[in-house]
Amino acid sequence: MTATDKSGSGAAAEALASGETHSFQAEVARLLHLMVHSVYSDTDIFLRELISNSADACDKLRYEALSNPALLADDPELAITLVADKTKGTLTVADNGIGMSRAELIDNLGTIARSGTHAFMESIGESGSAPKLIGQFGVGFYAAFMVASRVDVVSRRAGSDEVWQWSSDGSGSFTIEPYEGDDAPRRGTSIRLTLKDDAKSFLEAWRIEQIVRAYSDHVAIPIRLVEVNEGKPGEARQINTAAALWTRSKSEITPEQYKEFFGALAGIYSDPALIIHYRAEGRHEYAVLLCIPSEPPFDLFDPERRGRQKLYVRRVFITDDAEFLPGYLRFIRGVIDSEDMPLNISREMLQNNPLVGQIRKAVTNRVLSEIKRTAEQDPEGFAKIWASYGAVIKEGLYEDAARRDELFEIVRFRTTASEGETRTLKEYVAAMKTNQTAIYYVTADDVRKAAAAPQLEGFKARGLEVLLLTDPVDSFWTRSALGFDGKPFRSITQGAADLASIPLEKTEEIKSDQAQDKSALGTLLAAIKQSLGDAVKDVRLSERLTSSPVCLVADAGGLDRHLERLLAKQAPGGGTQAQPILELNPNHPVISGLARRAKLNGASDEINEAAWLLLDQAYILEGEPVPDPAAFAKRLTGVMGKVLVD
Ligand code: ADP
Ligand code: MG
Repeated sequence: MTATDKSGSGAAAEALASGETHSFQAEVARLLHLMVHSVYSDTDIFLRELISNSADACDKLRYEALSNPALLADDPELAITLVADKTKGTLTVADNGIGMSRAELIDNLGTIARSGTHAFMESIGESGSAPKLIGQFGVGFYAAFMVASRVDVVSRRAGSDEVWQWSSDGSGSFTIEPYEGDDAPRRGTSIRLTLKDDAKSFLEAWRIEQIVRAYSDHVAIPIRLVEVNEGKPGEARQINTAAALWTRSKSEITPEQYKEFFGALAGIYSDPALIIHYRAEGRHEYAVLLCIPSEPPFDLFDPERRGRQKLYVRRVFITDDAEFLPGYLRFIRGVIDSEDMPLNISREMLQNNPLVGQIRKAVTNRVLSEIKRTAEQDPEGFAKIWASYGAVIKEGLYEDAARRDELFEIVRFRTTASEGETRTLKEYVAAMKTNQTAIYYVTADDVRKAAAAPQLEGFKARGLEVLLLTDPVDSFWTRSALGFDGKPFRSITQGAADLASIPLEKTEEIKSDQAQDKSALGTLLAAIKQSLGDAVKDVRLSERLTSSPVCLVADAGGLDRHLERLLAKQAPGGGTQAQPILELNPNHPVISGLARRAKLNGASDEINEAAWLLLDQAYILEGEPVPDPAAFAKRLTGVMGKVLVD
């Protein structure tokens, strides 16, 4: 059973006697310790989390009732009821949703760590602010322990005769026993919080209403408040609007309401970076309410790359992991509510449903065009989106060939000419030099390293702009994309540079040794090649260097060296790297000096030593380790000795 599998009967199978005490799973216990002992300021979110669980439970029941209507029959109106009892000092959140069996109570509320628990504990260490993160990591239930000294959960699973009670004070364990009280719920879950002394204000009606308005107004199920005074319950009154937000028209919805809605959906309670809300009409009718969260979710780079759109059919919740958008748009959260799909569509059937395919296509197109529009009309807003999700969107460049051209209009790059800003490919192409036929790029781990690549020198001297690519995905799409606007993508660290036909702009930068002695250089190349043997594939003169003496490049047909390194990191044994090509800068005084010596003496010990030193230097310039550090140090010491020792 995996950590997220909630259906499991593992705990029940152990057939523990009733009234027994269970330990919390270790990570959960640590989390609870934090909730109980830390002092947080925004504790009011506990109510939002419990209400959201109740709303989920009602959604789940509605879904199960589609195939088993009897579950809903005796109590068809779903509702969430908050009962504030000042005399007892308790606040109860009750729902008539799906409920939990004994096994589910044990598993869901403490023995199976939720997938987010670990990530939550790690993030909290960094930020110190638990309440902000609780919803985001799906550990909402435990927020109750910020305000309650004791939590009692009484639950009846829909369709079951048994009622079970789970109780805990948040220290290492909880108890579970059959519930015998005559106020047992007919269906669903009732969570009673015995409030801590400093949390009694949560019994005040105005406070509860304020929290519900702020966080839970959009919940599409009525939330009612009952105040109990000296044992006498007052009248229940509804305190939320209870209309699905996506069914309302845009003009009626305030930014606050959108924010609260997406906050509840994605667990990130800040203003969304982009909201997409529309109604598709025509052949199929459906409502779409999506957003790009302002902060990336913690599992953005999970290998599963799962989509997170909720599917409703005529306001009935069907599933929350519908894949209405491709993997490279997985950061988009929201709801799609279809008018035409059959209500009894099972989650499994979704995969092959042609309607799903059509909606998927249309929604993807719409999302991309909205992103493009933002890029054009709100460059600042778009820059934030790009900073958070650019690396993910670029996955589409090799995954979604059909939309590649469209994606090329969205993607932004740092370049040697962008000076901290970003550029579009269109801008790049418009600034291309005479005789420039390719779009040049360099890949590295970060911008600083990319910009420092020695191979860039010759491009800079010719005023050629080069894309600085720093996301791992860049190494992949550049290989599969055929080009943009008819111009192929070319790595500046691979193959021949072919720069001869493009005139130098900054000639003064090149310390040109006017009298390049071609035959001397030829002799030097041969001598170095002989020395280095199998360590290199070839040694040749470079067009791409102006100030560095040497650099490494990859063969035109093979893999770029940066990509080789990326793949080697993933390979079990560290992988192997192809032999590099060593390029020499014929204008560099060290190279021309060596060439003169080669012409005079042919291959010599001196040239042999220099050859190895130059190769090691080229590795260092790449940010790679030298293959034999001891030999390198010895050679370097030898050279220093000649210069420094009297
Ligand atoms: P999440 O809501 O992200 O799953 P929580 O910590 O809020 O995480 O809740 C844990 C689990 O406990 C839920 O996934 C659900 O299975 C169960 N649960 C909590 N509250 C209820 C409820 N009112 N009715 C039914 N199940 C519930
Ligand atoms: Mg929850």
